Amino acid sequence: MGLVAAAEATAGWAERGGYGALGPGNSVPRFHITWGTGPGIVTPFEEAARRAEDAGTLTILPRHRVTELVIADGAVVGARGDVLADSATERGVTSSRDAVGDFEITAGATIVASGGIGGNHELVRSAWPERLGTPPAHMLSGVPSYVDGSMQTVSAAAGARLINGDRMGHYVEGIQNWNPVWPMHGIRILPGPSSLWLDATGRRLPVPLFPGFDTLGTLEHLRTTGHDHSWFVTSRQIVEKEFALSGSEQNPDLTGRDVKLLLKSRLAKGPTGPVQAFLDEGADFIVENDLESLLEQMQRHDGGGILDIDQVRREIIARDREMDNDFTKDAQIGMLRSMRGYRGDKLIRTAAPHRLQDPGAGPMIAVKLHVLTRKSLGGINTDLAGRALGSDGAVIPGLFAAGEASGFGGGGVHGYRALEGTFLGGCLFSGRQAGRAAAC
Ligand SMILES: Cc1cc2nc3c(=O)[nH]c(=O)nc-3n(C[C@H](O)[C@H](O)[C@H](O)COP(=O)(O)OP(=O)(O)OC[C@H]3O[C@@H](n4cnc5c(N)ncnc54)[C@H](O)[C@@H]3O)c2cc1C
Repeated sequence: MGLVAAAEATAGWAERGGYGALGPGNSVPRFHITWGTGPGIVTPFEEAARRAEDAGTLTILPRHRVTELVIADGAVVGARGDVLADSATERGVTSSRDAVGDFEITAGATIVASGGIGGNHELVRSAWPERLGTPPAHMLSGVPSYVDGSMQTVSAAAGARLINGDRMGHYVEGIQNWNPVWPMHGIRILPGPSSLWLDATGRRLPVPLFPGFDTLGTLEHLRTTGHDHSWFVTSRQIVEKEFALSGSEQNPDLTGRDVKLLLKSRLAKGPTGPVQAFLDEGADFIVENDLESLLEQMQRHDGGGILDIDQVRREIIARDREMDNDFTKDAQIGMLRSMRGYRGDKLIRTAAPHRLQDPGAGPMIAVKLHVLTRKSLGGINTDLAGRALGSDGAVIPGLFAAGEASGFGGGGVHGYRALEGTFLGGCLFSGRQAGRAAAC
């Protein structure tokens, strides 16, 4: 019961949203995180697929890359493409794309469920929305390299209309995975609200761009700074309580459905194992016992040369001074105090307010943050049954689309500011819609 209550109370943990009572953001805790994480969701589907394969009603063709949809009499009647060479590459390396043959499949209905575009940075940059300024020259990949948007061109060549390509969700709290699963693999920190957030030159981000408030708003602001990265300045105590990491590997307690580990890692003192691994091995982490040593190491770090170190020092000292000021006008500190009044946040998301220079909360920590590609909200235009539409708005016979490939079936279910944790539901739902329509 206690665990359920805690889970309910912390359901809004990923992102709060900023600004006023109206407008983007969460005014109530919202749904999130699955017991078993990604693998827990995939397993029942995989088991059903394997059973169907055993029964001879499903054929799975791994290492088959579609390069063309086959059209006959104005309808899509299948797909053709390359059979790729077997590949046993190590973690963190793109598997071989060498073609060793070709294939063609004929079908009464073809559903494109090829995911988004985040693994293809050139495509991301070319679709980058004007309102977000110039695209970053450097990004990390929050998705595997096979999420490369290749089926968009293939589907467009078959007459499908692509819409809302500039709607994408990228995170600004990306860190380089010290143990990457795919090339340029970045992990998103889902931060609690206490770290001091500075741009690449050392200026504090404007209110209300606090950690864990408004990712897209922060991305928009950072693109005006002329630099791709930013910094958290924080303390060990804050990292221990407030740094959650996105991804199944980073959450072994939830992925392994291990209640003991969950209680130990989330409620006990000390960082979780994966967070400790980043403190020890992460290329973006600087850990020092005092302010001057931290500043020195930040300046030496890749990208640290453009920091105005006097400004960084001033920001940290001014922020720390406000800790003793009950009359504070520092909006972030006011927000910390308010969040500590909410049980869920107090329990697992917000450290007791303290000075970043407090030796009892230390050592001090700086984290260099990168832009991390993740979600595509545009793609193949469909109707609500997942049927692909052509440039004239008419249904293309035989062609369907679902999941991120279609922005969840026609432009997004949860809206442009769809937050972390709101994608899988739409992917599954649009898949069911398309599947049912295709079976008719
Ligand atoms: C680390 C991480 C954490 C996430 N966390 C959450 C979360 O907490 N909550 C949430 O709701 N969402 C989360 N998401 C997002 C969610 O996982 C995705 O939105 C969802 O999995 C997309 O599903 P999809 O089936 O549309 O595409 P994908 O799962 O990307 O599958 C697309 C498939 O198509 C194949 N493909 C692509 N092109 C071709 C081609 N030309 N020929 C043949 N095959 C092709 C790919 O190889 C791939 O197997 C997360 C994503 C990541 C990467």
